[in-house]
Amino acid sequence: MTERPSYLFYQGRGRKPVLDQARGIYMWDTDGKRYIDGSSGAMVCNIGHGNENVLAAMRDQMERATFGYRLHFETEASERLAARTADLTPEGLDRVFFVSGGSEAVESAMKLARQHALATGQAQRWKVISRSPSYHGCTLGALAITSYAPLTAPFDPMMRAMPKVPAPRAYLDGLDPEDEATGLHYANMLEDRIIEEGPETVLAFFVEPVGGASTGALVPPRGYMERVREICDHYGVLMILDEVMTGAGRTGRFLASEHWGISPDIIVLSKGYAAGYVPLGAMVAHTRLVEPVLDEGGFQHGFTYAGNPLACAAGAAVLEEIERLGLVQNAATMGDALKSRLETLMDRYPIIGDVRGKGLLLAFEFMADRRSKAPLPAHLRAFDRFVQIAYDHGLIVYSRRTRGGVDGDHVLVCPPMIVSEAQLDEITDLLDRALAQFMDEIRPT
Ligand code: PLP
Repeated sequence: MTERPSYLFYQGRGRKPVLDQARGIYMWDTDGKRYIDGSSGAMVCNIGHGNENVLAAMRDQMERATFGYRLHFETEASERLAARTADLTPEGLDRVFFVSGGSEAVESAMKLARQHALATGQAQRWKVISRSPSYHGCTLGALAITSYAPLTAPFDPMMRAMPKVPAPRAYLDGLDPEDEATGLHYANMLEDRIIEEGPETVLAFFVEPVGGASTGALVPPRGYMERVREICDHYGVLMILDEVMTGAGRTGRFLASEHWGISPDIIVLSKGYAAGYVPLGAMVAHTRLVEPVLDEGGFQHGFTYAGNPLACAAGAAVLEEIERLGLVQNAATMGDALKSRLETLMDRYPIIGDVRGKGLLLAFEFMADRRSKAPLPAHLRAFDRFVQIAYDHGLIVYSRRTRGGVDGDHVLVCPPMIVSEAQLDEITDLLDRALAQFMDEIRPT
């Protein structure tokens, strides 16, 4: 590829191919090279690219109005999306606040929780406990409850430190994730921390039901989520589920929390909620939280683009397509099929030490030694190098060097929920080739 000068910058100086088109699970660059979107972008494009019904709904809305400021107008699109969202979330979570992304949704949840405390005579509650590792976004509020040092450390002096508890990592601690005692073991760390902080000072607990890029699709052990709900209830702490990555069907249920029958106080959604067609997110809160805030003068928060009609029209069409095409069920079925293919690769490649996840939120983890669970040496930068090799082969996957709170490389394999068995075979074949090349590269000479 020829070097082009650029005015743009993101993470570094490296230039990327230029995207030309995307349809279904495939993407093409301007040189005509085809890629399989094996990570749905960043676990976003759940219904695949170029869905005609979503594009038609967007065109229709664009012809009518693309912007109406939320303090001047409601729109049919925002009303429809809010109503559908309330339908799809647990009973009582009926109040929807629109934003343009995951970090904004997280900020909104933190601020609603705080304003609810103020409105109900609990001004001493401000601490938001979260887990380590975790990822809740890149704005300073969301970063304060994120635990991943490379992203947080530079900004530590600019943030108020928030308490963290370990995310469950049964596989590293040699515990059986199917044993309820394991779930209680990790959940009770939350109770210990609430007591240590002073229960009257704790506002909320934030949790990703299935870890995303933070843990590499780690699923909580049996009993964990239920016990967390009990603990939050007992101490009057709000339970806030970050379903930015897990929501909108990715784990084989519309919400990952449905796997455990959990009803949180607030849910935040983004990514698959508008499936990459527009920037959109939502905070969905229990009416019981919102009413006192509205009674006390209103929610002191809001973004200019909140409730943008075009975004809401796209979001509503995405939810309709998820339902029409049966994509939540497909994520469950194809997720099982992909997981067993990844397990077959694990049988063949000893550097894969673990395969995990739910639905189509799946990951494998590289290990130098399965028995000791030692990670590959950091200098190999396996997470980076493997992703590049796969990319060169025409497969996009997503990775980070982090696992249950310690170093380790995981690779997320999360194709769009429209994926077919034949396409899973294509993905598996490309992973196979990329793994073979990576093994060759790191083999001692
Ligand atoms: N929460 C989770 C669980 C995420 O995975 C992400 C993004 O990866 C966010 C929040 C932040 O979302 P955004 O990047 O849209 O701000």
